[in-house]
Amino acid sequence: MELSVFRKMLSLLCTVILLLGVLAPANPALARANTLLPQDSRAATILSLVTPMRITESGVLEYFDQTLKGFTPTGLIESHRHLIYPYSPVKQVDFFIIHYDAFPNLKADGKPGTVQNTVANLNDIRMASVNYCVDSYPVTHNITEKKGMGVIMATLPANPPFKARHTAISINSEKGLDLNSQNTADLMIRLGISTRLTVFNKDKTKDLDSVSLGVEQSGNDFSKVFPLNMPPDREIANLLSLTAAVATAYDLKIWDILGHNEVQQKPDPGNEYMTILRFLLANLYLQQRELFPEGFLGDEPAAFFAKLKDYATNLIGESGYQKALKWLEAEDFRYSAPLQKRLPICKKYKRCLSELY
Ligand SMILES: [Zn+2]
Repeated sequence: MELSVFRKMLSLLCTVILLLGVLAPANPALARANTLLPQDSRAATILSLVTPMRITESGVLEYFDQTLKGFTPTGLIESHRHLIYPYSPVKQVDFFIIHYDAFPNLKADGKPGTVQNTVANLNDIRMASVNYCVDSYPVTHNITEKKGMGVIMATLPANPPFKARHTAISINSEKGLDLNSQNTADLMIRLGISTRLTVFNKDKTKDLDSVSLGVEQSGNDFSKVFPLNMPPDREIANLLSLTAAVATAYDLKIWDILGHNEVQQKPDPGNEYMTILRFLLANLYLQQRELFPEGFLGDEPAAFFAKLKDYATNLIGESGYQKALKWLEAEDFRYSAPLQKRLPICKKYKRCLSELY
């Protein structure tokens, strides 16, 4: 090979490598290439079903309506609790608590449960209430008898938000602090995860309902018989849409989003489900940062995924964690940071760039 041809080829190679090095941080397509989930995976399918949502200054939850081409309020179906116990505001929003309504995933007619069912079920003797409800139907504000509505407000919107009765946890002088709340805080601290749960656990004047919002989703036993009774993909996508909006409105980080089972000795929604939810939230954040508050992961992505794995492994074992990833069809997912700097190989060949022009 002639020397001049060799030099030209070397120049070209250098240029390509240099451009890759320079462009990678600024070009989302290239940056994403490092975090992409397999296109045909369940995880990618769930993320593709996410509907952009937001919460207005006055606390109204809105979703992006594809037909109207704009944001519009979701439906509102209030539970009956406020008719007996008048609404009162939360003290602050430190946590978002995830629940399921504990009714079968499928109703007697073989169709999935709806948010209308969930609210009706809240109105039993317990007179519980919750801020939002989620089912597996596309998000709509139209109430029809036979279909769900995707995501609704189940408590009147307000700023600050009204308190719902969904965990009823507080430090009881006889029973002490709930064991799961203590265990979760201890494990998170041990793994270097910063959590407001530690402060909450120490403050004997607060109940969790006063410092959190809650969502009830349709279904039962997601983790108990995992993966045999998981909700439909769209229900998880609807929950992701809502969670991103709540996190943005109240500046919550991913570890402030807690399963009921993490703060109280309850089965809902369970450790496998919370692992899946956090894995998907983190991937959604990496793909669509505009839907989330800044610094949502609380760590660099690689550190976050390492902590997620540690946390899950402590609770459900290595095999449990792998089972969750397998269900998402993301067993081979490895987060690698996008290129941040020019590649050192080209530094000494920089001058060859100018020779091209
Ligand atoms: Zn619950």
